[in-house]
Amino acid sequence: MRIAVLTSGGDSAGMNPAVRAVVKAGITKGCEVYVIREGYEGLVRGNTAPPRPHRKVHRNLPAERLAHFGDDSLLKNLSFGDGPALREGAGDAEEDEQESGTLKGRHIVRVGWDDVRGWMGEGGTFIGSARSAAFRTPEGRLAAAHNLIKEGIDGLVVCGGDGSLTGADRLRAEWPDLVKQLLSSNQITQDQATTYAHLKISGLVGSIDNDMALTDMTIGAPTALHRICEAIDNINSTAASHSRAFVVEVMGRHCGWLALMAGVSAGADYVFIPEQPPKSQPWEEEMCEVIRRHREVGKRKTIVIVAEGAHDRDLNPIKADKVKDVLTEVLKLDTRVTTLGHTQRGGRPVAMDRILPTLQGIDAVNALLEATPDQPSYMIGIHENKILRIPLVDAVKQTQAVAAAIEARDFATAMSLRDPEFEQ
Ligand code: ATP
Repeated sequence: MRIAVLTSGGDSAGMNPAVRAVVKAGITKGCEVYVIREGYEGLVRGNTAPPRPHRKVHRNLPAERLAHFGDDSLLKNLSFGDGPALREGAGDAEEDEQESGTLKGRHIVRVGWDDVRGWMGEGGTFIGSARSAAFRTPEGRLAAAHNLIKEGIDGLVVCGGDGSLTGADRLRAEWPDLVKQLLSSNQITQDQATTYAHLKISGLVGSIDNDMALTDMTIGAPTALHRICEAIDNINSTAASHSRAFVVEVMGRHCGWLALMAGVSAGADYVFIPEQPPKSQPWEEEMCEVIRRHREVGKRKTIVIVAEGAHDRDLNPIKADKVKDVLTEVLKLDTRVTTLGHTQRGGRPVAMDRILPTLQGIDAVNALLEATPDQPSYMIGIHENKILRIPLVDAVKQTQAVAAAIEARDFATAMSLRDPEFEQ
């Protein structure tokens, strides 16, 4: 079997270990393994240039070592991590690419065992990620299907957030129709249409937000949480020294997991999360009352965490600057705002973001190898410390239902859909 792996959406720590696991598990199980550079954008663009000739370094290697490299391997073509950052609507990838060390015109690359050596402890994603506008269009997905068939790939592992897995599920659902279109426009042969009648997909949830339904933990969330805790630990000492208040804005989009867990582990006075807005409307007095109480019992510092998607009961955004103004004007606290931004995403994965993607990457490959035409594609999740497979379509539907419940201000339903064991 020929399998390919791509990383998509916002990068997260643990994506490199995930790719490494898929490559090594695939090779161990006898597959030919490919990586797709720059997420769906690379899949849509495909390969427009032939493989590069071997680099000298490979010619000097003994034959048994060479066997560890793919025919078209990354090491021969790429200095890790130097690919262009493609963003939605960005210019032409080939124009954007720098000459040195990048794969001009090649986005789907055969890899070998040694190509992913040393990737376990590295942050971000070496094979590049992107937000691809093209993949959202029917033409883009048709091109993606054509490129997969041209390269002979019949199994795909997608590591990304809920958007990326929604895209994967769409590709899966449309696949028979895409194959028909390619056949009727003579872009593929009848033999290819028969051979590639089914595309098998495994989804790995790579996202710092931990916002995917039906799984307890996403790849990258533990590292992002750790970074936030470290930052708040640092803020704590300066806050206490000057008796200051700090409002810390953290990432998470529509999900409050990072904010809430950071509040627990770093000891915040008050936390704003989208799933459970303050009970009162307006909310200012409710927060001030809690902080006043903490100050009265002798606390010299105040930490308020605001999730980036936080809002009040009427869905008006609650922003860090507004919280700062309230703390300054109502409680007369010397207040500063700290927006942690991309420091939350970056850096080496913590141990959990090495173990989780390794176990899930192996299962993603197993799921592809065990797939039958009438079986669904799976998202590989984790529940109560057990790696498990959830039909991709169910995970995507449930995550969309959470977003709809938040939109409808039905916060209790949102929480119970994301985690069926949640009790308000
Ligand atoms: P993060 O959680 O870090 O934001 P994400 O995977 O949710 O990651 P998105 O930008 O939502 O990030 O999605 C990544 C890419 O997946 C998009 O740029 C697009 O190419 C594809 N995608 C998302 N939603 C769809 C969809 N409904 N149909 C087709 N493709 C989609």
